[in-house]
Amino acid sequence: MVKKDSSLISEFVRISKYFGQRFDLVQAAGGNTSIKDGDRMFIKSSGYSLAEVSSKYGFSVLSNNKLIKFLKTTTNVKIDKSIEKASFDVLRRSIISGNAPSIETFTHSMLKKYTIHFHPIAGNIVSTSNNSKKIFNSIFEEEILDKIFFYIKYKTPGIALASEIMRIVNPHKESILKNKYTILFLENHGLICSSDNADDLIAYIEEIMVKLERYSKVNFKRYKITSLISEILWKNDFNDLVSYYSEDIFINSFVKSKFPAGFSKPLNPDQLLYCGESALVVNESLEKEIPRFIKKFKTYPRVIIISKSIYFISSNILKAREVEDVFKSHLYFYKLSKSHKSLSKENIKRLDSYNPQKNRLRFWFDYLK
Ligand SMILES: [Zn+2]
Repeated sequence: MVKKDSSLISEFVRISKYFGQRFDLVQAAGGNTSIKDGDRMFIKSSGYSLAEVSSKYGFSVLSNNKLIKFLKTTTNVKIDKSIEKASFDVLRRSIISGNAPSIETFTHSMLKKYTIHFHPIAGNIVSTSNNSKKIFNSIFEEEILDKIFFYIKYKTPGIALASEIMRIVNPHKESILKNKYTILFLENHGLICSSDNADDLIAYIEEIMVKLERYSKVNFKRYKITSLISEILWKNDFNDLVSYYSEDIFINSFVKSKFPAGFSKPLNPDQLLYCGESALVVNESLEKEIPRFIKKFKTYPRVIIISKSIYFISSNILKAREVEDVFKSHLYFYKLSKSHKSLSKENIKRLDSYNPQKNRLRFWFDYLK
C-alpha cells in the first residue's frame, strides 16, 4: 500500500469509528462514511458497522467518475426496476478494490471530499414527525437561505434517493461549491453531511446535533462522552479503539451505589483478560487520568467510570459488549459473596505473559507486543 493511501485509510477509519461508537448518531450497521481522492472514493462496505471498520477490512475503493456519469443519466427520469438494476451493475463495475460497497454510494459520489451519512436519534425525532419539513425550516432557517441545508423528500435508499438529491441540489451548484458544508436532511431517514475538511465537519455536525436536541428537549451528553474517551485513547497511541456507554440496569445500579475502592480487582482469568487489572474511576479529569492509568498499567483501561456512568472500551462495539458481560458477572460475585479472594500479583503476572490466554482476544495481541 502506498504511503498516501495508508494515511487516507487511517483518516477514514478514525472518522468511521468516531461515528460508529456513538449510539445517538448511529445504531447497528447503519450509516456510512466516504473520502474522495481524485477519481477514487473510499467508502464503507455494506453490512459492516462503522465502529468495526479497520485499516484491513470494512471498506471498498471505487471509481467515482463512473458513478457520477451514470447518476447524471437518471436526472428527471422515473426510477424503475430496470434503472435500479443498471445502477447495481455500474456500482459493481466501478469497484477498484473491496466488495459490496454500500447502496448509498451514489449519494456520496456527487458531494465534497468527506461525506458522512448517519441516523441521529435527535434528527430522526424531527424527520419522522408529521411536520418534519416545517420544523426543519424553523430550526435551520438561516442555513437553508445560505444553501447549506436541504430537505430531501423520502425516497428508497440507493439510486432513487441519489437521483432525488441530484434534482434538489443541482440548481444551487455554485453556492454549494462556495459553501464549506452541505447538509442533506432526509425525510424518515437521517442526515448526509459533507465538507472538504474532516475535523471541521465533525465539529459542525456536533453543533447541528445540539440544535436538534434542544428542539426535542433531549440531552445525549452520556453518549457524546464516548467520543471524548476515544479521542484521548487515540492521542495516546491506542488507535482503533472505541468506547461504549453501558445502559445495563444491574451494572448501573452498582456504579450509582457507594462502591468500595479496589472492587474491580480480577477474581478470575477472564476478568483480567477482558476488563484489565483495574477499572479507571475518574475523579478529576479524563484528560489527566487516562494517560496516568496507561503509564501505571502499561495498557489502556477497559472499564471507565465517570460520575456514575460506566463505559467499556474495545476494538468495536460488539467486543465492548463482551467486556460489559464479563464485568457484570464479576459484579455478581462481588455483590453476592461476603468475602472475595482476588488473583494474586504473581498469578496476574503469569496470565499477562501467557499467550494461549491472550490469543482468545485476537485484537489484544497487537497491543501487548
Ligand atoms: Zn441510511
